[in-house]
Amino acid sequence: MMKYKAFLIKYAEIGIKGKNRYIFENALVSQIKCALQKVDGSFQVTKEQGRLYVEALSDYDYEDVTEALKCVFGIVAICPVKIIEDTTWETLVKEVAKYMEETYEDKNFTFKVAAKRADKNYPYTSPEICIEMGAYLLEQFPELTVDVHNPEVVVNVEIRSKAYIYSVIIPGLGGLPVGTAGKAMVLLSGGIDSPVSSYMVAKRGVEVEAVYFHAPPYTSERAKQKVIDLAKKVSKYTGPIKLHVINFTEIQMYIYDQCPHDQLTIIMKRYMVKLAEALGEKDGCLGLVTGESIGQVASQTMQSMAVIEEACSMPIYRPVIAFDKQDIVDIAEKIGTYEISIQPYEDCCTTFVAKHPVTKPTLKSICKSETHLEEKIGEMFQKALDTVEIIEIA
Ligand code: ATP
Ligand code: MG
Repeated sequence: MMKYKAFLIKYAEIGIKGKNRYIFENALVSQIKCALQKVDGSFQVTKEQGRLYVEALSDYDYEDVTEALKCVFGIVAICPVKIIEDTTWETLVKEVAKYMEETYEDKNFTFKVAAKRADKNYPYTSPEICIEMGAYLLEQFPELTVDVHNPEVVVNVEIRSKAYIYSVIIPGLGGLPVGTAGKAMVLLSGGIDSPVSSYMVAKRGVEVEAVYFHAPPYTSERAKQKVIDLAKKVSKYTGPIKLHVINFTEIQMYIYDQCPHDQLTIIMKRYMVKLAEALGEKDGCLGLVTGESIGQVASQTMQSMAVIEEACSMPIYRPVIAFDKQDIVDIAEKIGTYEISIQPYEDCCTTFVAKHPVTKPTLKSICKSETHLEEKIGEMFQKALDTVEIIEIA
């Protein structure tokens, strides 16, 4: 196989005109650099005439680099590119032929040449380059067939101060570069749904932080480790995640002791979003994110969610709200979180869950129950914030 020294990075340009374009490109460059830090080798990311290139400055592993780039939101396509310094015609045709030789073992396919000429002094026009180069390649490789309308392979030849040749297109994830849409606090449990939600908001450019509510000894160290492992998987796409671990035991026990058990989950969730909001506000988050989906469990009816979100003033985003479980599972499998999520470790919500939780709570009844918490909840809330453990996931 051919050894490429560079990759052309293609991104969608819709809606990123003017000033936004510059923000978008800079965010993309920094996300690409961040993704490549985890890959062996030294790379340079450059912006040239509205084009992004990743150039290898050392040896590298092709699979590792393309895998890393395939996880960066905002990239539509990754094209391994051959760069030719000497653009004189005689050299160029030979180099393109060599490129075809090295890239395609079997040349029984249809093709066309697509040329772009940024250097207007170049002795051939773009249509001439297409025709002449196509003819030269046919001469060299008689197995090839030209098809200008629907070719299997488009050989792109771009002539600037150097010439760039590419024909292989590796699809990227699309979306927007992380960091272009503000920051959110994800309530990250060990389940299937919240890691998928993290991935989905990040795909729209949102930078994510996370909070996990830990209830030792009812939830084990292993359950916490599972959340850390999930955050690590998700961070492949989102970039580094600041994970907050809140010790929730005291609050949870207090609610359990003071409130009707069928309302336990709702009241607990209300304190979760309040705590998440307090942490998020400190770090400049613009919203909370959960893995809730309508009707999945008692606390995810529209009535329950309305009562839960009344507890905080930040918007709560629920990317999988209208997804069937299987649709969520499909994404979880694709992003590699599913295997971790299905490990059987207790969640703090399941430990104390009532046999018959309310499915249609009213705000009035919940607020009435919460009056039983007045004596100690303020103090416990502050203590939970003061003792938060922060784990930097990179
Ligand atoms: P998931 O698959 O994400 O765990 P779930 O279907 O198990 O979701 P619930 O347990 O009702 O649903 O939780 C709903 C949402 O509340 C979760 O998606 C998550 O965002 C948040 N959540 C629940 N438990 C915790 C926890 N211990 N720490 C942080 N967030 C939590
Ligand atoms: Mg869960």
